[in-house]
Amino acid sequence: SETFRAQRSCTTCPYCGVGCGVSATVKNRGAGDLVTVAGDETHPANFGRLCVKGSALADTLGERGRLLRPRLHGQECDWESAMDFMAREFRRTIKEHGPNSVAFYLSGQLLSEDYFVANKLMKGFIGSGNVDTNSRLCMSSAVAAYKRAFGTDAVPCCYEDLELADLVVLVGSNAAWTHPILFQRMQAAGTRLVVIDPRASATSTMADLHLAITPGSDAALFNGLLNYLIEQNKLDGEFIRQHTQNFAAAAAEAGNWSLTRTAASCGVTEAELIAFFQLFAATEKTVSFYSQGINQSSSGTDKNNAIINCHLASGRIGKPGCGPFSITGQPNAMGGREVGGLANMLAAHMDFTTENVDRLSRFWRSNSVALRPGLKAVDLFRAVESGQIKAIWIMATNPAVSMPDAARVEQALKKCPLVVVSDCVADTDTARCADLLLPATTWGEKNGTVTNSERRISRQRSFLPAPGEARHDWEIICDLATRLGYGEQFAYRHPVEIFREHAALSGFENRGSRAFDISALAHLSRREYDALQPLQWPVNRKNPHGSQRLFGDGKFYTQSGRARFVPIQPSAPLQRRSDQFPLYLNSGRLRDQWHSMTRSGRARRLLDHSEMPEIQLNPADAANYGIEDGQLVELRSARGRMRGRASLTNAQKAGELFAPIHWSETLAQDSRISALAEPVIDPHSGQPEFKQLPVQLRPL
Ligand code: SF4
Repeated sequence: SETFRAQRSCTTCPYCGVGCGVSATVKNRGAGDLVTVAGDETHPANFGRLCVKGSALADTLGERGRLLRPRLHGQECDWESAMDFMAREFRRTIKEHGPNSVAFYLSGQLLSEDYFVANKLMKGFIGSGNVDTNSRLCMSSAVAAYKRAFGTDAVPCCYEDLELADLVVLVGSNAAWTHPILFQRMQAAGTRLVVIDPRASATSTMADLHLAITPGSDAALFNGLLNYLIEQNKLDGEFIRQHTQNFAAAAAEAGNWSLTRTAASCGVTEAELIAFFQLFAATEKTVSFYSQGINQSSSGTDKNNAIINCHLASGRIGKPGCGPFSITGQPNAMGGREVGGLANMLAAHMDFTTENVDRLSRFWRSNSVALRPGLKAVDLFRAVESGQIKAIWIMATNPAVSMPDAARVEQALKKCPLVVVSDCVADTDTARCADLLLPATTWGEKNGTVTNSERRISRQRSFLPAPGEARHDWEIICDLATRLGYGEQFAYRHPVEIFREHAALSGFENRGSRAFDISALAHLSRREYDALQPLQWPVNRKNPHGSQRLFGDGKFYTQSGRARFVPIQPSAPLQRRSDQFPLYLNSGRLRDQWHSMTRSGRARRLLDHSEMPEIQLNPADAANYGIEDGQLVELRSARGRMRGRASLTNAQKAGELFAPIHWSETLAQDSRISALAEPVIDPHSGQPEFKQLPVQLRPL
């Protein structure tokens, strides 16, 4: 442990998809390690800044609440017994019911190396596609839309574009709270801001223009914008002719969206619309910045494509200060996409084609690579409920809190013959459903890479020893693989060996012709890996130092090499208000908390911000329902109920409420917002709808 004394390590924040660099210093004060954190001034995501969550990271360390030994059926046991049990049960289940009777459910909190070996084991050797991730709930609609438009899942922009832009259009994003450092960068650059969000937020109050649209009407808005650009002759005809296809079909759909119809559909005035449309049309350097407000929708993919259409039509892509920029929620949602963490993708961004399955078989020397996509999150947990999935391993995530219809997911897990949960904390809603609990290392202890929202791969470095008997996720996965008979292909001794394989696969058999290509990193030595500086993919022979932005040459990854316009017919949310459930509940994050608070909830100074779920409502609704500020209230939907404290605010329009996502049954009974959501999904991405939940409200 001496090697951990008085050291400064450059690592990456484990919270949001901004992926800020963190400098952690460990000093030995006799009674234990004293850790201090500061922003890493050399990291290009944040240049030394940290938000309030990142600044409090040191307060979240320590063994309090940690899972330190394996637990089998509630009893502590040694690793040998735990892994023996797990391997025996997985082997038996696969033998009796086939490979599709087992599943892994992963997390955007995992490092790419963990993700890579989990995906390799399930899709490469067990032979099932049943690997999905909580990133499905975060940005899978953005992935589906990029693939439709560009032929591949590739974010065109970089963070510097937010500073170079003269206008940033934030859609469905409260970036001031959810991606604070990026918002600070926009503000410092003096960029004009338009915010499109049904509710007033910390972000909208600092905007030049706020369009408080009707929940779910984003696609109509951007169809209206495309129509405006056409009518006002603000297209980039040269770009459309040379670099795109299908413009006429998209234009025909957009032609149905006059100003009058768009304004009525979006619940804003024509004057407000014109103000936005004129600004967009007149500002060459425009970035559209969007997040879960767009993605977490039953038509999230269409919403993404409606935005992308406007950028293609105006040629605002691939140039400094321009582009459609989806921002991931989690620190490694992008890394998970790269290694095949989504059930519908293979590693290295490969789709499930015969050619790709054969390619993977050659690369891994395996004859049992999965032939078909696996089940996406909502279907995966339905399959757990129906008994089709009989053994599931959940890593570093809490689906009993985060999945729609959460109480039903929890019940399904309790019925499942084998639930293994590996996590760093001992008590979560999901851990309570586990037959086997495995202690995993966490931030500060783990060593590997993550990829942030601008395709930038950064190192997460360990600076503390693993507590108790906790092991790294990749080590646990490799242990299971070995016990299942695949030891030779999982004999890694250090994450660098996994990373090298990941990088080599991205360029294997000229895969370097695709966007995700980091083949130039396939031969890193351990020393080079340890010293690896943040860089953006592709990182290949052509771009050995990485690539700041994509598509500057007007070439895309479709068969024709042209970007595709997608005609959009906007659709209403699948969950609709009714006489019984007359209010819309919107959901989102608080400034100071993260996910189900298993880490951020440990920092006292963060919890001071808000000690229980606050349900924001307009004073008119409060008067209507006889509710006073601070009073306990209950929300009910067709699926479940949630309790919280009323917070009266004009930020919410009458008829619309807002509640945070962070609370769990472990913290307070009936506090999960996800328990209210129907498990309805976007048909292209499988991403669940979370932003317009029909509910009824009553005082308690
Ligand atoms: Fe961490 Fe995100 Fe805050 Fe950066 S902006 S310090 S990555 S939570």
